Amino acid sequence: MPSSIPVAVLGATGSVGQRFVSLLDQHPWFKVVALAASDRSVGQKYSSAARWVLDTPMPDYAKDMIVVPANTDAVQAQIVFSALHTEIATELEPQFARAGAAVCSNASSYRRGDDVPLLLPEINAAHIQLVRHQRQNKGWSGCIVTNPNCTSTGLTIALKALDEAFGVKKVFAVSLQALSGAGYPGVPSLDIMDNVIPNVANGGEEEKVEWEPRKMLGKLVEREASGARIELADIQFSAHTNRVAVIDGHTVCASVQLENSVEPADAIRALREYCPPASSRELPSTPRPVIEVREEADRPQPRLDRLAGKGMTTVVGRLRRDPILDLKFVVLSHNTIRGAAGASIYNAELLVSENLL
Ligand code: NAP
Repeated sequence: MPSSIPVAVLGATGSVGQRFVSLLDQHPWFKVVALAASDRSVGQKYSSAARWVLDTPMPDYAKDMIVVPANTDAVQAQIVFSALHTEIATELEPQFARAGAAVCSNASSYRRGDDVPLLLPEINAAHIQLVRHQRQNKGWSGCIVTNPNCTSTGLTIALKALDEAFGVKKVFAVSLQALSGAGYPGVPSLDIMDNVIPNVANGGEEEKVEWEPRKMLGKLVEREASGARIELADIQFSAHTNRVAVIDGHTVCASVQLENSVEPADAIRALREYCPPASSRELPSTPRPVIEVREEADRPQPRLDRLAGKGMTTVVGRLRRDPILDLKFVVLSHNTIRGAAGASIYNAELLVSENLL
């Protein structure tokens, strides 16, 4: 594999942008050539522009880089990681794709596009083939590839293992989402201390959690006449989303109805033995393991479990019978690593290994 593919981060000073800067430090294939942000930061050294909020030090390579504007003249890279807010991403990401960059995006702008992959490589790596159709449809030499909303991420990975083994029909999910998911500076302290805030991000989050897993668990259908598309999985979702006073790590409590009733021990085995698609198994960011199952009565917990597999592993626990549906469990995923920056980097690695750059 190449060892220095030039990459850039758009929105490099924000909550997700900082994760990119940190995770890309000494990446075996990627070399950061540009860090872009808003007018507030442009022209400053990254170390002055970014108010560093991670508990690992700012990497040396980034400190003296001068922040550039997020446009195709200032940012020239083969892969562009986007940590932009939706409205800005909607405008800028197609410009980069048209200019030939592979845009790996965290924003929700294009997740629903028929020819846009919504990817978690350990469950739906094959969906990356939509990129070929996207290029044909749009006439782009670059492309846009997306990762899901951070609350859908861990839930969908756990559901994939259960769906493959037993068939999932219905999902009822309640999230407890970390503060870093609201960006920086995020939720005012007087709103969140001693509190739980329902209706994350003033709406929209629940609809994402009810729709995005259906695309990721759906089937890639390729037809010569009509091109390729994803047939949404026939699973019903109901979601409640809540913000809690945790710094990193989204917890989701889920109940599921399966096609046939299943013993909890069999479901635990299916989660532990879940085997990801071959093409996603040996990439630098592949989660090791993909799913970790905890059997203690009080795990997973964000503080103790969010860094499992360097923040890329999905941690499941409390798997037991559900008196209304079939099974219930708790799933935890690191929202700015597996749910955001780590997700986009993993997607970019898949693009490279599938020769789709
Ligand atoms: P954030 O902390 O508010 O950071 C926003 C970034 O965008 C900053 O770097 C900001 O730069 C930059 N920016 C703002 N306006 C810009 C403009 N006009 N042109 C160029 N750059 C601009 O937000 P975040 O939490 O990192 O979220 C970024 C995206 O990732 C959002 O779409 C979010 O929904 C998505 N996402 C977040 C998470 C998570 O856990 N946080 C998970 C999944 C997806 P300045 O510092 O210069 O203002």
